[in-house]
Amino acid sequence: MSSAPAFQPVLQRIAQEIAQSPGRGRPADYIPALAACDPNRFGMAVAELDGTVYGVGDWRQPFSTQSISKVFTLALDLAHEADALWEHVGREPSGNPFNSLVQLEYENGIPRNPFINAGALVVTDRLHTQTGDASGTLLDFLRAESGNAELAVNQDVAGSEAAHGDRNAALGHFMAAYGNIGNPVPVLLDEYFRQCSVEASCADLALATGFLARHGVRADGTRLLTQRQAKQVNAVMLTCGTYDAAGEFAYRVGLPGKSGVGGGVIAVVPGRCTLCAWSPGLDEHGNSVAGVTALDRFTTLTGLSVF
Ligand code: GLN
Repeated sequence: MSSAPAFQPVLQRIAQEIAQSPGRGRPADYIPALAACDPNRFGMAVAELDGTVYGVGDWRQPFSTQSISKVFTLALDLAHEADALWEHVGREPSGNPFNSLVQLEYENGIPRNPFINAGALVVTDRLHTQTGDASGTLLDFLRAESGNAELAVNQDVAGSEAAHGDRNAALGHFMAAYGNIGNPVPVLLDEYFRQCSVEASCADLALATGFLARHGVRADGTRLLTQRQAKQVNAVMLTCGTYDAAGEFAYRVGLPGKSGVGGGVIAVVPGRCTLCAWSPGLDEHGNSVAGVTALDRFTTLTGLSVF
C-alpha cells in the first residue's frame, strides 16, 4: 500500500461539507431491523486499482449492503452463464420504484433490469442454480476481493426481511408463474434475503467493486468478466443502479453507481478507482441522501467522472 495521501484531502473536505449540511433523509423502516440506524452517520472510501484505500468518517463501520449486493450477484452470474442470463431479465431503466410489481404482468414476467428487486430475484435464482449456493458464492467473492474474511450475513436483518418480505414473495411467485424462476420460491427468497443482509464497510465495498474499474480483473489478477462484460455491467449500473432516480444520479454524479436501502452507494471510475459512501438516511427513491451528495461532490471536486 502506498502512503501517498492522494484522495485524503478531498475526502476530508467532503466529510466537513456533509457534517454541515442539513437534511439527511430517513432510514428504511419497511425492514424494521434497519429503522434504528442513525442518519447522522457518514463514511466514505476510495480504492485505487492496486488496492490502496483512503477513507473518512465511518468508513470502516459495517452496514447492511442491501441492493449493492445485486452488482456482485449479477457479475457472478454473468461469469457463469454469460449472455444466457439476458433471456430472463432486461437491461432498460424501469422508471418505477425498486420493489414495483406493475411492469411484470405487461412484460410477461421478464423484469426490466437486474437491479430492481424482480430482476435481482431472477439473477439470484439463476446464480443459485449455477452454484448451488448463491449467497455463499457472493460472500466468498466479497471476502476475497475485500481481503476481509470476517464479512458475514446479519441474521437479524435477514430474519426481519423475511418477516416483512411480502412484496418480494409476491414478485417471486408471480415470476414463477411465468416460468422465469427455477428454484422453489421459498428457497430463492431465503437466498435473496441472506444476500441483501451481508454487512460490509465502505472500505470493503470500495475494494470489492474494484474489478469493475479494472475492466473485469479481480484483486488477485485473475479475470471474473471479459472487458466487454465489465463495460456492460457498468452501463447497467449507470442507467438502472438507482432505480427511478437513475437519471438524476447520472446527472449529479456522472458515474456508474448502485445504491442500497442500508444507505450505501458504490460508484466506479473505470480505469481509475472505486468509491463507496454510506449514510443511512434515504430519499423517497431509497437512495442515501448524504451518500449521493458525497459522490456528487467527489466527481465535482476531482473531475473524475465518465463524462
Ligand atoms: N432487501 C431490500 C428489498 O428487497 C433491498 C432493496 C434495496 O436496497 N433497494 O427490498
